[in-house]
Amino acid sequence: MTEPGKVSMEKIVSLCQRRGFIFPSSEIYGGLSSCWDYGPLGVELKRNIKDAWWRSVVQERDDIVGLDASILMHPQTWASSGHLEGFSDPLVECKNCHLRWRVDDLKDKNCPSCGGELTEPRLFNLMFKTFMGPVEEEANVVYLRPETAQGMFVNFQNVVNTTRKRIPFGITQIGKAFRNEITTGNFVFRSREFEQMELEFFVKPGTDEEWFNYWLEERFNWYVNLGIKKEHLQLREHTKGELAHYARACYDIDYLFPMGWAELEGIANRGDFDLVQHAKYSGKSLDYFDDETKERFVPYIIEPSAGVDRSALAFLCDAYDEEPAEDEIRVLLHLHPSLAPIKVAVLPLSRREKLVEAAKQVYADLRQCWIVDYDDAQSIGRRYRRQDEIGTPFCITIDFQSLEDEQVTIRERDTMKQIRVPISELKATLAAKLSGEDLFVLPPGGQIWKE
Ligand code: ATP
Repeated sequence: MTEPGKVSMEKIVSLCQRRGFIFPSSEIYGGLSSCWDYGPLGVELKRNIKDAWWRSVVQERDDIVGLDASILMHPQTWASSGHLEGFSDPLVECKNCHLRWRVDDLKDKNCPSCGGELTEPRLFNLMFKTFMGPVEEEANVVYLRPETAQGMFVNFQNVVNTTRKRIPFGITQIGKAFRNEITTGNFVFRSREFEQMELEFFVKPGTDEEWFNYWLEERFNWYVNLGIKKEHLQLREHTKGELAHYARACYDIDYLFPMGWAELEGIANRGDFDLVQHAKYSGKSLDYFDDETKERFVPYIIEPSAGVDRSALAFLCDAYDEEPAEDEIRVLLHLHPSLAPIKVAVLPLSRREKLVEAAKQVYADLRQCWIVDYDDAQSIGRRYRRQDEIGTPFCITIDFQSLEDEQVTIRERDTMKQIRVPISELKATLAAKLSGEDLFVLPPGGQIWKE
């Protein structure tokens, strides 16, 4: 067994590249620094993470609605939010090799790369700039959003007017964000283009602390319920000096990544900062009238802000395991079934025509419900290993007996135990197992299987 929290980043990166989870961006051109492409399995994992977020904050609740705001926003947004001024890091540049370094990261006075002399620190804005329209001039500057949050603040009144949601309520969105980070690295942990899942929860001032604590607990449990070991997560309170200019309080949910504890998600009590700023600079009222108490106020905002990419990395690291199996090492991902890229693999015992025909029928049928793989190459043992390594929770084997008795075996990834069930019961059985039912709870006509 891999020691908890001890999987190396090299192993995760290697598995991701070997099996098609994550590739360096534009790899045939040598890659683009700290940008990543999600391959066929990675895109499914990411989609499942985003679905799990959406399910928990939108689908299963009646007080949060979704939004998909434009990445390019009115440039005034970033002046009002403080990003144009405050979203900067003091940097020094090496006079010799011209690499730039964050002052906070430097251990001595010279360039860590070539030992060259460094310039005086200067502020460097982390937002990517581009130009809107055909003319590249200052007047046409727009920014790629460095967070999705602002789209929700500027749409606060639109949502209040169109949804009849009353406070407390939230707006959430999932989308790309861009930051010209100075120090990148640790695989997808810190990249320049990434995806965020953010929730802005609007509350009445005075109830903010209660809601802040509520969201801390909800968000912590979300990771635990999706399989992350509790001892690999911690809540860390920001010190006064660390607090962002807008925050009244902030906690990070940290995960024990291979390089150590680091932020997975931030949860902040933003007070009324955002709505006050946008109201001030847009000239539009962003306060809220409570019909019941007849009070008018500017809501406070509680913001859980999570990264899709950091979550994907954490789920992969936490799921990674190696165990001895026969005379080799079995690599497996204990991914929660709802996160596993492929839910079921259909494996005919051999490539005999009749078997393939029956297996393809099962495959076509199951694909109506889930992302399913079909594999008839190499030995059955090799095929099981391939699926274990990508976290597929169940493998279905179709053998010669299946042609006669219309039954197939279901093999569970983690225990490698098997049951045999009638094909007519297969879909319902898999649905139950994928929702967490014990393997040995059998459908009508099912049996525990020993090869
Ligand atoms: P860090 O201190 O690690 O740079 P941050 O405090 O700047 O992160 P936030 O602004 O709170 O991050 O963003 C919320 C979430 O967005 C983070 O918890 C993280 O999951 C994700 N995130 C932020 N920056 C990046 C990045 N460069 N690459 C990948 N994910 C990121």
